[in-house]
Amino acid sequence: KNAQYFIDLEDKHGAHNYHPLPVVLERGEGVHVWDVEGKRYYDFLSAYSAVNQGHSHPKIVDALVKQAQTLALTSRAFYNSKLGEYEKKVTTLFGFDKVLPMNSGAEAVETAIKLARKWSYEVKGVHGNDAKIIVCENNFHGRTTTIVSFSNDPDAHNNYGPFTPGFVKIPYNDLKELETALEKDAENIAAFLVEPIQGEAGVYVPDEGFLKKASELCKKYNVLFIADEVQTGIARTGRLIACHHEDVQPDILILGKALSGGMYPVSAVLANDNIMKVIHPGQHGSTFGGNPLACAVATAALDVVEEENLSEKAEKLGEIFRNEIKKVIEKSDLVHSVRGKGLLNAIIINDSQHSPTAWNLCLALKENGLLAKPTHGNIIRLAPPLVITEEQLMECVAIIEKTIVEFKK
Ligand code: PLP
Repeated sequence: KNAQYFIDLEDKHGAHNYHPLPVVLERGEGVHVWDVEGKRYYDFLSAYSAVNQGHSHPKIVDALVKQAQTLALTSRAFYNSKLGEYEKKVTTLFGFDKVLPMNSGAEAVETAIKLARKWSYEVKGVHGNDAKIIVCENNFHGRTTTIVSFSNDPDAHNNYGPFTPGFVKIPYNDLKELETALEKDAENIAAFLVEPIQGEAGVYVPDEGFLKKASELCKKYNVLFIADEVQTGIARTGRLIACHHEDVQPDILILGKALSGGMYPVSAVLANDNIMKVIHPGQHGSTFGGNPLACAVATAALDVVEEENLSEKAEKLGEIFRNEIKKVIEKSDLVHSVRGKGLLNAIIINDSQHSPTAWNLCLALKENGLLAKPTHGNIIRLAPPLVITEEQLMECVAIIEKTIVEFKK
């Protein structure tokens, strides 16, 4: 059975809600994945930064297998012997009183929105149903009806109405607009929801000081600062969470993806007691949230981040990577620039937003043994598993250099 067989099956029987690169993967280990024809690639997407700990990390696999053989799911109708210890670990590590466990990233964002709204009515004193949440243009927080209500990506948003009200959109990285929006309606604003780096939009890194000042403004107006670190969290940008670059502790922290090392859908919302206490039994939950399998996997995934110093690695290798790519860019006019933090980076292609150049360059990278995917516009995100060694990273720089230099539009 060749690649085309599997591609045809997906094409015929699956909804066409993705446009994958034409490669069919069947195995992964560390920074590598193999296709059905046995060809090996460097994975420079890491499942959108879910696989920070590398594919099939033995410690996480071991935790998964052991727990699956013991007890997978109880629902929260009963206590289980894994949840409490996991809760203690995750809250201690990230510095919060409490965690609310969910499964997907979008569910965790929904949870944070509900939590902020409820806090605003019951603690801040917002009246009626008037709570508002400030969000940023070009955000990506997931795909639920409420979340796409405040997306300005036409593909994510159009024809999914009627939309959930209560969101105010401001430009990203704009403190003036944030303060204006806060000032205008201070008593009704529950929260400011922000990605510390806009990943899906194309790895937009805000100005230094933006997160710090934004969190201070939120404090001034008694508004919750919610950091969506589903993509930027768990060591990806060179810190445990990207907010730590500016010593910011969000009021509500949203985690997903690499919280489980990509082994299983595990997400989390963290907050202190003064916020989390507004949720009482029966007011929010999920059959799978906090199940023993998820807790065992996430505990092992967090252990790996600590034991293998993945934050420090991402910080150091990210610096090296951007410096090396800058040298590559000088040899060709195909790439305009490189930007990012830690090992969450992107190259910006010198071409119009809707030209196929980024896609074609990804096809060429694939031929040369490296998998990456264009994100919005002519931008290619480059985000390998954080377990990559410096030697492997330099091998990847060589692949990227060869591909760029030889590429013909
Ligand atoms: N929030 C951010 C910042 C993301 O990057 C993503 C996914 O890419 C999500 C939320 C949604 O996560 P999920 O796809 O697990 O629902």
